[in-house]
Amino acid sequence: MKHPLLDIIALSLLVLFINCKSQRPLVNSEKSIAPKNVILLIGDGMGLSQISSSFYFGNTNPNFERFKHIGLIKTSSQNGLITDSAAGATAFSAGIKTYNGAIGVDSDTLAVELLTEIAAKKFISTGVVSTSSVTHATPASFYAHVRFRSQEEEIAAQLPRSSIDFIAGAGTDYFFKRKDHINLSTMFSNQGFILDTLALNRPKDFSLEHKIAFLLAPNHMPKMSEGRGHFLSKATQLGLEYLSQNENGFFLMVEGSQIDWGGHNNDSSYIIEEVRDFDRVIGEALDYAQKEGNTLVIVTADHETGGYTLASDKGNYNKIKGSFSTTGHSATLIPVFAFGPGSENFQGIYENNAIFHKIQNSVNWK
Ligand code: MG
Ligand code: ZN
Repeated sequence: MKHPLLDIIALSLLVLFINCKSQRPLVNSEKSIAPKNVILLIGDGMGLSQISSSFYFGNTNPNFERFKHIGLIKTSSQNGLITDSAAGATAFSAGIKTYNGAIGVDSDTLAVELLTEIAAKKFISTGVVSTSSVTHATPASFYAHVRFRSQEEEIAAQLPRSSIDFIAGAGTDYFFKRKDHINLSTMFSNQGFILDTLALNRPKDFSLEHKIAFLLAPNHMPKMSEGRGHFLSKATQLGLEYLSQNENGFFLMVEGSQIDWGGHNNDSSYIIEEVRDFDRVIGEALDYAQKEGNTLVIVTADHETGGYTLASDKGNYNKIKGSFSTTGHSATLIPVFAFGPGSENFQGIYENNAIFHKIQNSVNWK
């Protein structure tokens, strides 16, 4: 015969167990609250050595250090072990592997739905900021659909009617000095845009009643070394201020476009300055996310450029000299840094197009 005390012990253990169990979902649901806003920061051509440069050539602790959740992506495209920026960005913006050169289209050249288009359907505001022409491969992949990245006038023509609410970058030549002589400024105003081609000035009417476009240079913004100043972080600030007026949330993509160009030029100081500038943007995004608490920040790159390494200078282990193995892109895995609700999903090693799906799975506007 069993002692009744055993039953009491068993019962209390069971109650304890149930209590523990009932606590657990609470903790889980707290952890997996869907972010309202998503900020995706892309350092074009920014591999681990480019990132590392900010730890050796900066004055302050790089903002990269503020991330707890870090992963790696495999960046191959549908038709290349090494991707270009078009296929690389389309992997992020549409969740597919496509051919090098493709902007928002799949390997059959058919348009695929973009993150910004999905967001807009749910009344989420969207923004794109870059230091290249906004018609360049990376920014274009977030609003346009063309067979090849070189169709920049076609990409420009698609922008005013796209889902984008806030855009800042360069590229007036593609909008206002076109071979077909169509002046796109009428199209911008017809679509409710306030257009500024002179400076990053906060318009008087900064409400969501209007969309906003800053196109501030003919082809691309100047290099940092040529006096670009804090365009990228100021445009990001302005974008955040504008987009955050939407109570439903926002999606913002910011590209440090010229890190890639430093790599193609095999110019280490170009890379270092552009990465440092990009790091300031990371700071802006993280400060915003820390203050607001409902924002997922993801920092990554489409691929590495230059086969850049921080090698010793002539064997001197106390002196670093950037060196290169190519003037093109490389196939190395690329770091992903994530912060905020949903950031834990970005740990591990996965394909570049999984970023799209991880964002989709984190937000509740899918
Ligand atoms: Mg780019
Ligand atoms: Zn490149």
